[in-house]
Amino acid sequence: MSEHAPLVTRFAPSPNGHLHLGHALSAIVAHDLARAAGGRFVLRIEDIDGPRSRAELADEFRCDLTWLGLEWVDVPAQSARLESYAVAAHQLRARGLLYPCACTRKDIEAAGAVSGADGLIYPGICKRTPPDPDRAMAWRLDTARAIAQIGQLTWVDEHAGPQQVDLSRIGDVVLVRKNLPASYHLAATLDDAADGITLVTRGADLFMASHVHRTLQALLDLPVPRWHHHRLLTDENGEKLAKRRGSPALAERREAGEDGRMLAAQLRLQHLQLGT
Ligand code: GLU
Repeated sequence: MSEHAPLVTRFAPSPNGHLHLGHALSAIVAHDLARAAGGRFVLRIEDIDGPRSRAELADEFRCDLTWLGLEWVDVPAQSARLESYAVAAHQLRARGLLYPCACTRKDIEAAGAVSGADGLIYPGICKRTPPDPDRAMAWRLDTARAIAQIGQLTWVDEHAGPQQVDLSRIGDVVLVRKNLPASYHLAATLDDAADGITLVTRGADLFMASHVHRTLQALLDLPVPRWHHHRLLTDENGEKLAKRRGSPALAERREAGEDGRMLAAQLRLQHLQLGT
């Protein structure tokens, strides 16, 4: 990436639930970083989560962002990019970097999988014994092979500093889901490259995903951005704010007549106090 390339950040919500305060903060951080650098802030709708995706929520998200006083550039939603995911998955498969897996969550738990940085670490059941081809299959990254091909990698988070890629706490992640041409990891990595994202901005809860994404960039010969993982908003008990804990949806606050720009100003202040 050239030193003088314009800064391009993004907000990439999944339309499977309303946006809440944590999303608003992510969008504001990405927006403000781009604006301060005279760059571009992109909105990408990550809508390949099958039946959980609700088309009408994408419009709601745009109303929420406008209400917060943000301006953005739209790029195609993930559902319009399935072909590019299939092509990349095919390339990885052809190089022996993916293996099929028919395991259910129950199978993985029953095999005594241990918890990693992003859920259970896959214990390699289908790597040892390939599944019956008639069963629905996902495709997992063979991390041992990937590391053998690309060697030690690093990536840079603007706050946490340089990071050495470490897949040991993540394991063989799913890159192609049972009924979809890509998982979040594969789709987001390809999209960030296609959208020319130079600074991947998102909450610190996705920090470990960046180890996977950096690996995929090396395997697929994609440009390497920088990352900015911001701290998460917490409630008065120090718990992550999430919609399931009753944090009100932005749409609800908007419809109740609250001033969105004022809310954005408060979030900017909280973000300053969080330190990132
Ligand atoms: N679509 C993801 C979500 O809504 C965000 C992914 C990302 O920012 O990389 O949680």
